[in-house]
Amino acid sequence: MTASPIPHNLQHIQNRIRSACEKYNRPPESVKLLAVSKTFPAEDVAIALACGQQAFGENYIQEGLSKIASLRDTDSLAPQWHCIGPIQSNKTRQVAQHFDWVHTIDREKTAQRLSDQRPAQLPALNVLIQVNPDAGANKSGTEPGQVWDLARKILAMPRLHLRGLMAIPEPQTTFDAQLRVHASVKTLFDEMLRHMQVDGFAEQAACFDTLSLGMTDDLEAAIAAGSTMVRVGSGIFGKRSHATQ
Ligand SMILES: *Cc1c(COP(=O)(O)O)cnc(C)c1O
Repeated sequence: MTASPIPHNLQHIQNRIRSACEKYNRPPESVKLLAVSKTFPAEDVAIALACGQQAFGENYIQEGLSKIASLRDTDSLAPQWHCIGPIQSNKTRQVAQHFDWVHTIDREKTAQRLSDQRPAQLPALNVLIQVNPDAGANKSGTEPGQVWDLARKILAMPRLHLRGLMAIPEPQTTFDAQLRVHASVKTLFDEMLRHMQVDGFAEQAACFDTLSLGMTDDLEAAIAAGSTMVRVGSGIFGKRSHATQ
């Protein structure tokens, strides 16, 4: 049996994050790493967990639920689970019951169901609004012009905790092109924050602190633009065996 490449890969990604923070004058603790474990087994999550990685992202609800269940009774630090895939209405209850964060809110109906279904004994569910910054082929995400409208509705939902924005821009081949689209999401984030401060949501504005932007291939540009959470899959766990996005 060969040793897992995951500890070394994790170290490498952490170094990339640290270097980017240094280069763009960001405090290193201002960028969190979300390890995207989709398509990889619970054993791989356990290896990353043992290295101190705490936050994990899953795209497919069923797959995520089975890993959450199999890692529930480990002795190590409890993993924090982020749902980063699309959520059909019939899956909201399980998401509300088992995940800590949802990055992909793009309509009121999903948000309302998650708020209604969040179990009373758990803290409010942390949510991000997914925006569609480039009207890309990947059509999920709220149009930038509609984000504030959706945010106001979510801010009124008692069991959701609106933490910020998330985006999955179309892949770009140059740093400048990556930076341009990431920066447009950061601008929207700052506008939202201002809206919240002047429109009577000052208290919630204090927890509007998360910009989920950047993946393995563009995390430097995302950090340059102001990302506070990079979502890295293949850079940690290796190439995925089939085209799953
Ligand atoms: C798969 C995925 C990632 C990670 O992508 P990599 O290129 O493997 O780092 C990040 N965010 C979302 C929403 C994903 O689906």
